Amino acid sequence: MLNETTTDYRAIAASLSFPVDAYIGGRYQPAKSGKRFDNVNPATDEVLCAVASCDADDVDAAAAAARKAFDAGEWSRAAPETRKEVLLRLAGLVREHAVELAVMESLDSGKTITDCLHEIGNEVPNFFQWYGELIDKSFGKVAPTGENALALIVKEPIGVAGIVLPWNFPLLMAAWKLAPALAAGCSVVLKPAEQTPLTALRLAALAAEAGLPDGVLNVVPGFGETAGQAIGLHGDIDVVSFTGSTEVGRLFLRYSSDSNLKPVGLELGGKSPFIVLDDARIDDHLVSSAVSAAMWNGGQNCSANMRQFIPQSRKEEYLDRVLARIRALKVGDPLDPSTEMGPMVSREHQERVLGYIEAGIREGASVLTGGGPFDDRPGRYVKPTLFDSVRHQMTIAREEIFGPVLGVIAYSDPEEALQMALDTSYGLHATVFTQDIDRALHFARRLACGTVAINAFTEGDIKTPFGGYRQSGSLARDNGTEALQQYLQTKTIWIASRQA
Ligand code: NDP
Repeated sequence: MLNETTTDYRAIAASLSFPVDAYIGGRYQPAKSGKRFDNVNPATDEVLCAVASCDADDVDAAAAAARKAFDAGEWSRAAPETRKEVLLRLAGLVREHAVELAVMESLDSGKTITDCLHEIGNEVPNFFQWYGELIDKSFGKVAPTGENALALIVKEPIGVAGIVLPWNFPLLMAAWKLAPALAAGCSVVLKPAEQTPLTALRLAALAAEAGLPDGVLNVVPGFGETAGQAIGLHGDIDVVSFTGSTEVGRLFLRYSSDSNLKPVGLELGGKSPFIVLDDARIDDHLVSSAVSAAMWNGGQNCSANMRQFIPQSRKEEYLDRVLARIRALKVGDPLDPSTEMGPMVSREHQERVLGYIEAGIREGASVLTGGGPFDDRPGRYVKPTLFDSVRHQMTIAREEIFGPVLGVIAYSDPEEALQMALDTSYGLHATVFTQDIDRALHFARRLACGTVAINAFTEGDIKTPFGGYRQSGSLARDNGTEALQQYLQTKTIWIASRQA
């Protein structure tokens, strides 16, 4: 599966038939309005297909199908081992179709085929498998009482879950949310991002093939202002999980308070620091961590470590090494397995990233490489950009760029670096490089964020909760056993006995 060439992937791309309709109540169907929107390949600017543009009427139909399925109980009240079997079958089907799904996702998003294969061949099925395996090992509790009562504390699926997705990890984010929601027994109305609807739509058919009853998973492609808002405001959707911008996250809290007070799980990105302490070894591992921290997935990553704090005394050495690595990055055709970075996801997003680069230049940071688009190719490409002389008050050091930009901020005192790192409204992630365990723990404790990685850039794995402090999110967490809790509610059953 991993030995195919660009020519092979292009042949697979040419043979794909794209799912273009909404999936509601167990069947593909056009939007009730008949409207469609063009789905564009950002590597070529070519239109791939025209996808159903769902709005509030379609969300109503999807929520009704989801409610009907939930109330019928075939999934929501099934024994956990039944749900487990279906999720394990779904994991197997995703593995079987991984190449097809990865090529589809690469065309849809501009992500590299290598990343798509890794995410869809490994991580996505692992999510369905992990939560499938978890659900028949999750026990309730018995509260202490006298002998005249038995108090059971049980968990029940919350009902219909609304899931609104971003475009940066389309199928992976779908799996992050769907696997725990389905394992819990919920029915789902899922809206993929308008830029990347294809793999979630394809997944719906695979889930049906795995045995998921009709109506349990409904996928409504469309725009945020129509389909997304309708999910947020819907009176018969019981919980929402949203990943995307802080601005839209705020709207979801408003939608909740304007409708049925549904709980809202938010994952809203960040402005994460990468802190190199003066005892760190600036070796290949550190340099490749630094570059992936800022530029993996074209920097379109909520935990991108764009702000890199480097001791003044080590800055030249650091810049030399990082510059060489960035210059060597292979940017190009996402279907070429040797490509390390594709285009930005869309024209709008490319313009947004270029706007940030211009702001950096205007405010006095100096570009060491990159700094603009590629003039010699179609598509939404941005040159990987390294900025020196960044000050932490600059726009590029405060706002989420979501593009291939790495900014170096020199410091003279580690406590000063810590204070600058903390001076943000976000709190998703941080990386610290040091050889000193005491300093590592000091920084890990003081950094106000959901994940602190020491001596590597990592977001943890399926077993470790992922989510934000402050404006990076809410109390909800993705991954690990925590994610399941978002889709469950707690009931006490108190059984009184007159005989004991
Ligand atoms: P958005 O927050 O706008 O989009 C995320 C999801 O929310 C999409 O499905 C979108 O729909 C939907 N949405 C948009 N507007 C509304 C609305 N009014 N009501 C309900 N749902 C809505 O992110 P963008 O795609 O515009 O990206 C902008 C910035 O957001 C990025 O540059 C980045 O900084 C941040 N972001 C963060 C992500 C993260 O992982 N935390 C992921 C993506 C973006 P649609 O796009 O289909 O119209």
